[in-house]
Formats: sequence, structure tokens, C-alpha cells
Amino acid sequence: MLTETIHKHALKNKKQFGSTNPKSIIGKVIADFPDAKKDMKTTMEETAKICKEVNSLSEKQLDEELSKYTFESKLQEEKGLTLPNAQEGKVVTRFPPEPSGYPHIGHAKAAFLDLECAKKYKGKMLLRFDDTNPEKEKPEYVDAIRKGLKWLGIKWDGEITYSSDNMGKFYSYAEQLIDAGKAYLCTCTGEEISKNRKIEQECACRSLPIPEQKARWKKMLNGGYGAGEAILRYKGEMSSVNTAMRDPTLFRIILFAHYRQGEQYLVWPSYDFAAPIMDSIEGVTHAMRTKEYELRKPLYFAILKDLKLREPELIEFARLSIKNTKVGKRHITPLVQEGKVMGWDDPRLPTLLGLERRGIQPEAIKNFVLSFGLTKAESEPGWGKLLTENRKLLDPSAPHYFFVPNPIKITVEGAPERSVKIKTHPDKEEYREYSVADTFYLPRREIEGIKEGEIFRLKDLYNVRMIENMDEVRVGYAGEEIVEGKKLQWVTEPLECEVWKPGDLFLDGAYNPESLDKEQGYCERAILKLEPGKIVQFERYGFCRLDSKEPLRFIYSC
Ligand code: ATP
Ligand code: MG
Repeated sequence: MLTETIHKHALKNKKQFGSTNPKSIIGKVIADFPDAKKDMKTTMEETAKICKEVNSLSEKQLDEELSKYTFESKLQEEKGLTLPNAQEGKVVTRFPPEPSGYPHIGHAKAAFLDLECAKKYKGKMLLRFDDTNPEKEKPEYVDAIRKGLKWLGIKWDGEITYSSDNMGKFYSYAEQLIDAGKAYLCTCTGEEISKNRKIEQECACRSLPIPEQKARWKKMLNGGYGAGEAILRYKGEMSSVNTAMRDPTLFRIILFAHYRQGEQYLVWPSYDFAAPIMDSIEGVTHAMRTKEYELRKPLYFAILKDLKLREPELIEFARLSIKNTKVGKRHITPLVQEGKVMGWDDPRLPTLLGLERRGIQPEAIKNFVLSFGLTKAESEPGWGKLLTENRKLLDPSAPHYFFVPNPIKITVEGAPERSVKIKTHPDKEEYREYSVADTFYLPRREIEGIKEGEIFRLKDLYNVRMIENMDEVRVGYAGEEIVEGKKLQWVTEPLECEVWKPGDLFLDGAYNPESLDKEQGYCERAILKLEPGKIVQFERYGFCRLDSKEPLRFIYSC
């Protein structure tokens, strides 16, 4: 087994790099086969021996040997997206958003994990709207979530389903629990319920006989109680160390019209009740959710066991948070409602719309969120890692242009008039063309730092010398030959443009009203032919996305 693991990695390593050595593969061997660490001496000896053998194979032999092994796709393998008791072709995962807000990067993490795990086992991923709280849900959000997933490139299998389409089933499962003495109708006040949970005390409702429970349940369904006057509770254990098992709520009265079901239901299942049932009846084999639900795991299985429903595997992973940013509808919604951001697509927000507006590529989001894998390990990355991913993706293709922040007008003495063609990307034969005379707009901040006598270059044009840099700035033409020194971006016409630079929305936990910096400048005329949404690289400045043409505005991406 150990030798096989070594063999496999050595073959792959040689295939990739032409030869292999123990150093390059030992990490992977141990990751796949942790027991190998117990006797490192033997492991190293074996590895050295096998590497030597593999290095002596011909290309043809190498391919033959390689074909004996199966390899997971690189991403899935690196991220350890391994599911317990998974059978190829049989795995079914699901992404279960509640349509109570706009999707954010945390949802992207959950959805990509669901998708990649399903793919790894050649299974399916379902999309289900967990919509059993009419107070918070809206069709607008259903739409936003579908569009967001589409934008991310996430395709689900089959039809979208809605938990709220199963109310009849939920009610009949509730009755089964009541009949089995596993659920009871509680009419205590919220306060009493909390207090009893704290002091581990059962209430009088709990011990009423089953026929009476059934009558009370009917009354509840028929509107005989007002909101907050009755709930259906699971008969857990009031003295359980796990507080989630202290007779949790299964159904409550919510007197709101449901965006999909209208006003036909008054009594709505809790997440604790609806989620396991939906997972089970929809054929989900591997249900993933964030770690904060860990305490509720026994409840998930207790409900299924009592109802004799098939039990999926339940897997927890860490909730994604980003430093100085609040990920979560609970935090984002008030920012939008109180006007502290411009809308759900504010580029400072971690919403998918905000990220898109900021020029973040779906692929960068995918690489970023999957880099944390399917683990419970908490971390709080900053934006940096996501932006680095994004830069890598944009660099090969984003066209280059000039933007001059805070420009200063300068006349170049002795400037030759000419027309100049400038490449828009180092790897592409694409150009923009300008005729230049002696007037330029240059970045003021940079000019201020240039000493008299110093030679610098107008990028892709020619050299100039700083003649005077006191009250008046005078520069003169200084030849063509490329020299060491500063190269400045320039424009010849004052085309006004604003760049919005998103910063951290929160500092030390408090809202930061100064989080959107706006920088004025001039940009070159060629950008007028671009359409909104286009991402460019402003040279010596950064990647920016064209947000609006009138007024002309870019958003700084990375
Ligand atoms: P929010 O805090 O935004 O309300 P939620 O968990 O209530 O989040 P849901 O719509 O219920 O939002 O979530 C759908 C799925 O996305 C769930 O499986 C949930 O665990 C997951 N999810 C939500 N936020 C994050 C996050 N920050 N990181 C990882 N997964 C998340
Ligand atoms: Mg929720």
C-alpha cells in the first residue's frame, strides 16, 4: 500500500517534470498515507528506491504504468474533497439557500464545495430553496441566487426544488411524531420556554396525553392560536448537555403571506425540521453545512430516525469570513437598508454582485473559496488572497491603457510631433494610436518627486528631462533611447474620469464611512470604445473595471 502510493506519485511527478526525486513527492505520499510518518527511515528509503526505478522508465513504460492508477482532478485532490462512504456515480449533494437576501462569497464557498464534491464522485448536485420562513423571503432573492450561481458557472442537476412545496408532507410527518409521542404542542410563553431550557425543566404541555396533543395541533393549524401562542416541539431531553436537544421548535406560527405559497399556511416548519426531511426525501447522500450547526447534528438524525427516513451523511465545514468585512445576510442587509452602502452591488460588499462590479472573476472566487477545502479549520483571510487570484487571471488578457490620477499639464520643450502606436497588451498585436504634440498630462504626485536634471520617460514614447521643478515645471525632449529610470503614463487630452477604490467596510468591528476612496484623473481616449463591464489594466496603477460611461467611472479591482 505504501509502495503503491509512492509509486503513483513518483510516476506522476516524472510525467510532469521529466524526472522525480524523493523530496518532491514525500509530502504528497505522507498526505495520502499518514502512517508513513511512523517510520520515516523506511519511508525515505522506499521512496528513494522507487524514484530511482521510475526515473529509469522510458516514456512508453511510464505511460503504461500511469494508466494503472486513477487520478483525481488536480483541484479536487489538492483540496481533499473527500466524502465519507461515497460511491462513484451515487453521490448526491445539494446547495440549500434560503431566499432571504442576496448571495455572497460564503454562499459561493458552500455551493462550490457541493458542486466539486459531486463532480469528484461523478454524482449530482441539487439546488433547493429552503424557504419556510415567509417573513424573510422574496422572489427577488430567488432570482438573485439563481443568477449568482449562473454567474459563478455553477450548474445544478435537475429541476430546482422548494422546501415550501412540501408543506403537506411536513404536516403529516409532524403528525407521525405526535402520534409516536415524540412531539408536543407547547403553549408556554417564549420567556418560560427559555427559562425552562436553562433550568432543564419540563413544562406541563409536554406530558399532556397524545389525543390532546393532536387536538391542540389541529387547533394550531386552523388558526386557533395567534403568532407566538403555540409551537410544536420535539421531545428531546430537557437535561441534555447539548442545549439543541432541549425540546427544540419544530413548527411555529408565522402570519405572513409566503412569496410562493400565498396565505394558505399559518404554521411553518423550523430549519431543524425541514432540512433533514428534505435532504432525506430528495435523495441527498451527502449533506454539507457550516460548522455552527454542529450542535444540531444529533437532532437532524433523531428526527430522521423517528420518522424512519433514510439518513444522509452530514458533513460540516468552516464558515468563510473575511477580515474587516462582514460576510452574512444578517450584516449585509442592514448596510443596504440604512444606505451605508450604495446597494447590494456596492463594490465594497462581499456579495456576488459587489464582487462582479469590482471586477472579480468567478474563477478567482472559485480558487479562493476552494483553497480552504472541506475542513472545519477556521481562518479569517483578508481580501489579499482573492485579489491575487484575480490578478493572475486578468493579467494575460486585460488590455493596457493610461490613466493619469491628479494630472498636471506639462509642455515638453522641443517635442517632436508624431503619431505613436502603442501595444494594448505585451502578448498581443493590438494597438491604439495617438498623434502627440508638446502637451501632456502627467501624474502630479510622480512629477513632484523628480529632481531637476533627471531624465525620465513618457511610457512607450520618448525621454524627457526635468529642467525646472519649482513653482513652474519645465521639461524638455531628451531623445529616444530607452534609459534606466521612471516611466510615466501620460495622456494628451483631458478626458475626465473617476476611479472608485473600495476599501474595508469595517475597521475594528465598526462601520468605516471612509471606505470608498474616489480618485479623479484623465484617461486616454481609446477607452471610449469600451463597454461597461470591461476590465482594463491602467498601467502603473492597477486593474480597473469600467463601471459607467456617463459619467466616466472605473472601479479599482486589484
Ligand atoms: P447568512 O449568514 O448569510 O444568513 P445562512 O447560512 O443563513 O447565511 P443560507 O441561505 O441559509 O444562509 O445558506 C445557504 C448555504 O450556504 C448553507 O449551507 C450555509 O451553511 C452556507 N453558507 C452561508 N454563509 C456561509 C459562509 N459565510 N461560509 C460558508 N458557507 C456559508
Ligand atoms: Mg439562514
